[in-house]
Amino acid sequence: MDNNTASASEDLLGYPAGIAKAARAVLKKEVRHLQLIPAAAIKLLKLTNDENTRAKDLSKVIETEPALAAKVLRIVNSAAFCLPKKITSIKHAVNMLGFSAVRQAALDQLFYNRLIRHKSKQSFNQMFFWQHCLFVASMSKAIAVTLKHPDPDMIYTGGLLHDVGKVVLESYGRVSYSDYLTAYDKSDQSLMESEKTFFGLTHTEIGLVFCSTWNLPPAITAMIGFHHEMPPTDSPYAQFKTETAIISFANYIAWVQGVGSSEKICSPDLQAEVLKIIDIDKLNLEQLLEHVDREMANTREFYGISFPNIHKLRATLVQATIKLSVIGNKTRHDKSDGGNAGVASNGSILTIPHRSLDPEEFLPWTLEAIQSDFGFDRVIMLNIDPKRRGLIAAHWWPESILKDELQPFEIPIGEVTGKLLDCLRNKKPVLIRKDDNLDRQMLHRINVDEFIAMPVLRHNKLVGVLYADNSLSGRAMDEKILGEMLPIVNELGIALMNAKQYTLARKESQVDPLTQLFNKRVINEFLARLFESEPQVLTKIAVGFIDVDRFKHFNDVCGHQAGDDVLKIVADILRSMTRPGDLIGRYGGEEFLFVLRNTDQAGALGYAERIRGEIERRGKVMSERFHNHELTVSVGLAVYSPGYKSYPAMIEAADKAMYRAKHSGRNRVVVYQDDL
Ligand code: GH3
Ligand code: MG
Ligand code: MG
Repeated sequence: MDNNTASASEDLLGYPAGIAKAARAVLKKEVRHLQLIPAAAIKLLKLTNDENTRAKDLSKVIETEPALAAKVLRIVNSAAFCLPKKITSIKHAVNMLGFSAVRQAALDQLFYNRLIRHKSKQSFNQMFFWQHCLFVASMSKAIAVTLKHPDPDMIYTGGLLHDVGKVVLESYGRVSYSDYLTAYDKSDQSLMESEKTFFGLTHTEIGLVFCSTWNLPPAITAMIGFHHEMPPTDSPYAQFKTETAIISFANYIAWVQGVGSSEKICSPDLQAEVLKIIDIDKLNLEQLLEHVDREMANTREFYGISFPNIHKLRATLVQATIKLSVIGNKTRHDKSDGGNAGVASNGSILTIPHRSLDPEEFLPWTLEAIQSDFGFDRVIMLNIDPKRRGLIAAHWWPESILKDELQPFEIPIGEVTGKLLDCLRNKKPVLIRKDDNLDRQMLHRINVDEFIAMPVLRHNKLVGVLYADNSLSGRAMDEKILGEMLPIVNELGIALMNAKQYTLARKESQVDPLTQLFNKRVINEFLARLFESEPQVLTKIAVGFIDVDRFKHFNDVCGHQAGDDVLKIVADILRSMTRPGDLIGRYGGEEFLFVLRNTDQAGALGYAERIRGEIERRGKVMSERFHNHELTVSVGLAVYSPGYKSYPAMIEAADKAMYRAKHSGRNRVVVYQDDL
């Protein structure tokens, strides 16, 4: 991706409003709420080619996902890259192989996980789809290189994602893409036409909405949105015609090669315009196909999956050719035929867990990946618990292993000797065997013949131990595995560190340090989002302004510390009296703001009166401390009406009502009315 594509994206959202509406009608959720592509993938797609930041940013994105980091290291260390030396960190990988190769490996991995690994049933069709995407990606990139395109990586990404609209429909459509494929059998329309009839829009159009919502680089958006029909000359995407034509051509080759995205025969036409843009004579097709075949073989080997066998491919090829000749006879070359249908028609695509920096989310996923990649019987993350003076099982995989007999899985530090002690003291990975005399007691305690223990470090401080064994199958473990696992465990440590820093930073930026309530920024963001809700949500909100009465007096007479204490007391009362789902925050000095949902005027007034009354009551109880100065608040309330076009208007109304309360004697609640 080059710089201008990423920064220009704001200007390029343009697609007919009808498409957005159709997308809303056809999907179960708003596009911006789809967890279709892991957050990390979106971040990877948005990384620009800026020399100074890109290597660092890329490493950062990958390192926050330990399982991903682990996989990327495995990919770059696999035979395909023929490296003389083992690569042990993501930064190292980026240095050795460059930005492009590492990002490509990471993207492949993320999409593979999304489409293939995290699914409930093994499905031939899903494999077909994945294979098709990889083929188009690899072929597009090879064509881009031959044609000396300045950014073949971006073209690869476009190829990998070109059919993302189908995944959106399959995963989130009110009717799924599989439903559609079944129905398509009976249709005599072209695929694009029948998608339009069935869903109200095509997979490329929904792809367009998806890309715009997620603000993906416009060149990628163009490849996804227009690979079946070139962008019209007045479209903002017309500047990406070359990129779009490359994907379109690669897609066509895939289909005539029998590598379509489904077993259904619905191959696309080769658009005349594509041939005008791409000079086919410059392409050595034989060489290109050979190259792509090699890449596909590497992928196959790496993932240990078998793509559909050659006979199946040939049969598809023959059928595709027949279909193409029929289309050729009909001379519909100016019109696209949609094509490359499909995600699994019988399997479902599981939603990948939302990628986050929360260890509770990424740890299970990481352990699962380690367990399956290294073939352990069980993997356990042991945390150090200083209070219990022990190593305690915090996460494990498979989930079932610790349910009964071993719970709680715990190693008291006091009992640790031998190699395990070496592991904890010297932060050294160890494989502990039966013949390690000093560890015999420990082996006996956990009832296994051998196990490995890898220290997990954060800032070089031991935070836990990764434990793995083959206690169920009794398979012997090899010392070699320690070296292979080391980079993964290092990445895990980095991820835990990032998670901690992130949580702290996030908290600091959202919470007012004195009262521990949300700050003004969070309140504004919350309200801004709430104002985008459906009318039935919006009509039930109320906003209130709370201002401490004669607060200056507390400061002046009792001292600034007492003033701070008053603010904390008020905050505690507000916190304890506010329902989950509603929001309370400190808006400034001695002003607080609440946002209530699912309420009417009577409900909001009731809440406001309750807090006013409680603060008054507590003030009386504590009055001696404050030199008999009364603690009371004035509250201004605004209940939603369609006249409020934006949230600041509502805050302003609440503020005005609060001033009205002050003027009418303080210690009261006033509801805003237009004639105030
Ligand atoms: P009114 O009833 O009209 O609201 O009177 P007031 O004294 O509360 O009004 P005003 O808004 O004039 O005074 C608010 C004071 O609150 C001024 C400011 O010095 C003080 N203040 C603002 N933030 C803090 C804080 O964090 N701690 C303390 N101790 N005082 C603060
Ligand atoms: Mg004030
Ligand atoms: Mg005040």
